[in-house]
Amino acid sequence: MTPDSLIPQRAVFGTWPTPLEPMPRLARALGLGADDLWIKRDDLTGLGGGGNKVRKLEWTCGAALADGATVLVTTGAPQSNHARLTAAAGARLGLDVVLVLAGAPGASESGNLALDGLFGATVVWAGDVDDQALDATAQQVAAGLRRQGGVPAVIPFGGSSVLGARGYVECGRELLAQARDLETVVVAVGSGGTMAGLVDQLGASRVIGVHCGAVTDPAGTVSALVSGLSGTDCAPDSLRMRLDQVGDGYGALTEQSMAALTLTARTEGIVLDPIYIGRAMAGLIAAIEDGDVLPGQRTVFLHSGGLPGLFGHRATLAQVEAALTVSRP
Ligand SMILES: *Cc1c(COP(=O)(O)O)cnc(C)c1O
Repeated sequence: MTPDSLIPQRAVFGTWPTPLEPMPRLARALGLGADDLWIKRDDLTGLGGGGNKVRKLEWTCGAALADGATVLVTTGAPQSNHARLTAAAGARLGLDVVLVLAGAPGASESGNLALDGLFGATVVWAGDVDDQALDATAQQVAAGLRRQGGVPAVIPFGGSSVLGARGYVECGRELLAQARDLETVVVAVGSGGTMAGLVDQLGASRVIGVHCGAVTDPAGTVSALVSGLSGTDCAPDSLRMRLDQVGDGYGALTEQSMAALTLTARTEGIVLDPIYIGRAMAGLIAAIEDGDVLPGQRTVFLHSGGLPGLFGHRATLAQVEAALTVSRP
């Protein structure tokens, strides 16, 4: 564990605390009591369209500023919410941003990618590469920037270093102040920092993670971050991790995610994204069916953002458009 005096200052650019709101109509539709299900609105974190990456970026950007950085470099998928919010954070802090994205130009310029451009970020296409090759490209880009006299700060995939995960330790504190009696928090798992921070603050038994297919070993990834935060060993099998919502892989739309997205929109007027939050809601629905989440317990669903990604996901848009009911006047 790092002594507090050695931890860099946060760069505060989000809107805190985020609201905790009831979801009584969705709760009843899922067989829970009207007062059992709440939503933590981390889609409303303020900067750049919002989302969970803002909390982590406050810490990683704080460290970058302390190091005298002039340019932020990070990696991701073409529709990465983390890349979009890194671009927004750079704009807010007056730093240049280079996004090293997997893939090639032309696949889709909509959704998050359109916002990357709006925030003034430069995109480097790394081609069809695995995570290691993507990181290697980011290091090459950083070396090139250094040769040109810049001071790059490389922010890890998804912002999920031990430092970045501190943003979700803070979210755990907010939740305890808003709902002292909460029994379970359900959260989407990508690069793992969000779940790790919450587990550090709330304990492994109160957090259910829903793996979305972004990493090969979600429990190992999250437990390593929890161990780094707490300074004590966190066993991967102590985590409540659902692996049943990945379907055909990270980028694919699952039937369960589409159903969860539609139900949440129609009962509560709240939009989820297909990749992360739709899967997390489908995981909550499965957990209720399994008896892992019970009526009479206070359950919090963490909305971690991702709305721009919906507009960059063709398969989801096609289904949404097909479901539009049109009537004559
Ligand atoms: C990145 C992301 C997640 C996953 O968070 P991690 O900390 O990477 O596990 C969940 N939801 C949305 C919308 C995201 O963009």
